[in-house]
Amino acid sequence: MDRRHLLKNSLALGGVMGLGGCAATPGAAPGAAPQPVSTVPLMDRPPVLAPVRARADRFFDFKVCLRPFRTKGPNLDVEQIGDAMVVHNYGHGGSGWSLSWGSADMAVQKAMSRSPKEIAVIGCGIIGLTSAITAQRAGAQVTIYTRELLPRTRSVRANGAWTPDSRIALTSEAPANFGQTWEIMARSSWKTLRQYIGIAGNPVAFSDHYYLTDAPRGTPQPVDATVMPLPPPTWAGAPTHGEDFARYNDRIRDITSFPQQLTPDINPFPVKYASRSTNLFFNFTEYGHLLTNQFFAAGGKIVMRNFHSPSELGHLPQKVVINCPGMAARDWWKDKAMVPVRGQTGWLIPQPEVNYGLTYRNVQILSKSDGIMVIALENGELKGYNNSDESVNRAESDRAVKVIEDLFARFSVKQA
Ligand SMILES: Cc1cc2nc3c(=O)[nH]c(=O)nc-3n(C[C@H](O)[C@H](O)[C@H](O)COP(=O)(O)OP(=O)(O)OC[C@H]3O[C@@H](n4cnc5c(N)ncnc54)[C@H](O)[C@@H]3O)c2cc1C
Repeated sequence: MDRRHLLKNSLALGGVMGLGGCAATPGAAPGAAPQPVSTVPLMDRPPVLAPVRARADRFFDFKVCLRPFRTKGPNLDVEQIGDAMVVHNYGHGGSGWSLSWGSADMAVQKAMSRSPKEIAVIGCGIIGLTSAITAQRAGAQVTIYTRELLPRTRSVRANGAWTPDSRIALTSEAPANFGQTWEIMARSSWKTLRQYIGIAGNPVAFSDHYYLTDAPRGTPQPVDATVMPLPPPTWAGAPTHGEDFARYNDRIRDITSFPQQLTPDINPFPVKYASRSTNLFFNFTEYGHLLTNQFFAAGGKIVMRNFHSPSELGHLPQKVVINCPGMAARDWWKDKAMVPVRGQTGWLIPQPEVNYGLTYRNVQILSKSDGIMVIALENGELKGYNNSDESVNRAESDRAVKVIEDLFARFSVKQA
C-alpha cells in the first residue's frame, strides 16, 4: 500500500469520520483549508469510526422471528393444573432479552412461595433460561423441559439490544398498574445485566448508536422511493404512533442513555442531522454459552420434550412449573392476547473494527461480535404486526443494506 493510499484511508477513517472540526486533523488533504476549532469538549466528540462494508454480497445469514407480543403485557399469572402449580412467564414482545431477569425474579418469587426443592421450567429461550438460573439462585434444583435449545429458539433470531419497552403491551389493554410492574422488571433486569458487563467475549456490552436524519428529528422526513417514512423517535416527549403501544422508557431515564444532538462541527456523517446515544446490547453467542454453562454448573438438567396440551404439565415429577413457551402460548395455551410481530435481520460478515450502530432512513445497523446486523424498519412498531410468516424476504434485507451502502458511498464523494 503506498503512502498516498494510506493518507486517503486515514482521511476516510480519521478525517471525515473522525474528529470533524479539529484544527489539525491528521491526514487532512494537502492544501485543504484548516477546519475551525470545535468548542465541543473532546470527550463529547465522536471517536474515529471505521466504515461499514455494507454490500448485499457480504450477507452471510438471515433470520426471521416472531415477537411474542401480548396485548395485555407479559403473563405472570399462576394457575393450578392437576397437582402442579404453574407460574406463567411469557409474552415479552420485543423486550424479552431486556426484561428477562426482572421477569424471572417475579416468576421465581411466585414459584418459591411453595418452597419447592425442585422446579420444572418449560422452554429454553432467553425467558426460560434466565428463569431457570434465577430459580437455581433461589435454591431450587431445576430441570428445563423444551422442544428446542437456545440456539434454535426464536430468541436468537432477535436484534438483541436494550429495548425494554418495545412492543410490550397496548395501552388500552395493559393492567392499570402495569407501568409500575414494568419499571420494577426493567430496573431489576438492568442490575443483573450489570453483572455480565466486562466479561471476556463481551456477552453484554455498550456501543454508541447514531441516529441520522436529513431533516431535524421530530419533523417530517424527506421520503424517497426505496424507503418508507422514518418511524417517529421513541424517547421522552415523542408521540407514540399507530396502535396504542405502551411506552414506559421515561420511567427509567436515569439509567438509560437518550440521544443527544451532535452539532454540525462534530457530525462525522455526510447527512445534515445526527444524534447519538450509548446503548446496551447482547452478543448472543457469548451470552448464550455463558448462561447455558452457568445453568449446568449449578446442577441444572435439560430434557428434550414437546408438549401438546397444558394437562401434560400436571404429570411432571416437579410440582412447581415455570412456563416460558414464548409465542407458542397462543396455540398451546389458547391465549388470544398473543399477537405475533414478525421481524427480519440480515447479517453482514463481522467487522470487529466497527464498534457502533446507526439508524438512517428506516434502516438500522448494529455491529456485534458475530456480524453486523441490518434491519429494515418500516413504520416502526407496526411493522410485522399480526404477521406469522417466518420465511426470509431477501429483497427486504437487500433494500436495507443499499441504504447503508449509499450512505457510505457519500463519504467517498466528500473525500474526492
Ligand atoms: C426481530 C426481533 C427483534 C427483537 N429484538 C429484541 C431486542 O432488541 N431486545 C429485546 O429485549 N428483545 C427483542 N426481541 C424480543 C425477544 O427476542 C423475545 O421477547 C424473546 O426472545 C422471547 O423469549 P422466550 O424465551 O419467551 O421465547 P422463545 O425464544 O420462543 O422460547 C420459547 C421456548 O419454548 C419452547 N417451546 C415452545 N413450545 C413448546 C412445546 N409445545 N413443548 C416444549 N417446548 C416448547 C421452545 O422450544 C423454546 O425453547 C426481538 C424479537 C424479534 C422477533
